Amino acid sequence: MKKTFVVANWKMNPLTLEEAKQLFNAVEGGMEGLKNSEVVICPPFVYLSAFKPQALELKLGAQNCYSQEKGAFTGEISPNMLKDLGCQYVIIGHSERRKYQKETDEIVNEKIKAALKANLKPILCIDNIDQIKKDLEDLSQQDLENLMVAYEPIWAIGTGKACGIPEAKETNLSVKEILGENIPTLYGGSVNSQNAEGYIKEAGFQGLLIGGASLKPEEFIEIIRRVDLI
Ligand code: PEP
Repeated sequence: MKKTFVVANWKMNPLTLEEAKQLFNAVEGGMEGLKNSEVVICPPFVYLSAFKPQALELKLGAQNCYSQEKGAFTGEISPNMLKDLGCQYVIIGHSERRKYQKETDEIVNEKIKAALKANLKPILCIDNIDQIKKDLEDLSQQDLENLMVAYEPIWAIGTGKACGIPEAKETNLSVKEILGENIPTLYGGSVNSQNAEGYIKEAGFQGLLIGGASLKPEEFIEIIRRVDLI
């Protein structure tokens, strides 16, 4: 039975380390007894070193990384630094970075390669199928098997208007047609405890990428519990 992945993208929240610790502990405390899930928390970089997951099903991820290992790149964070802090995953190509930081497909492609080189699992966010070929250009089959793809329609992110199941399912099938069945696909965009199950059960995704709802521990735990063991 394949694991279900639930990834929390905290974005630029919460505002203090104290609040971040409370949120992290609340999520970890609510995870007892999970049967088949892997939960990945992606906090802002500055909180990563404060978190040491105790639960086996809980992993750390980052929300971005730079494409170089080290050197004169003021303000950037390398994948190797993230690995050293205990990260196993990194979100790459989130639509907010494509929009506000003007990340192109070429930049996304370089970051994915750098993350893989550092043994981090990239979670590539796409808004449409065309991005897949460009973002994953020149990757070997082995590289592809070490990443996940999250379908996140831009209009569904943070809007409360989640993508309909048939449309999400169609995109999921297209991704799998291009990349093969073994690459885990996630859905993201206004997921909550009421709509979460449908993306796994009906649309066939192997997990969820969650923004807003991941900041509300009770709601987030409810989502995890609903999709565990589907
Ligand atoms: C996201 O930013 O990746 C996301 C899915 O946000 P939300 O769940 O708030 O739509």
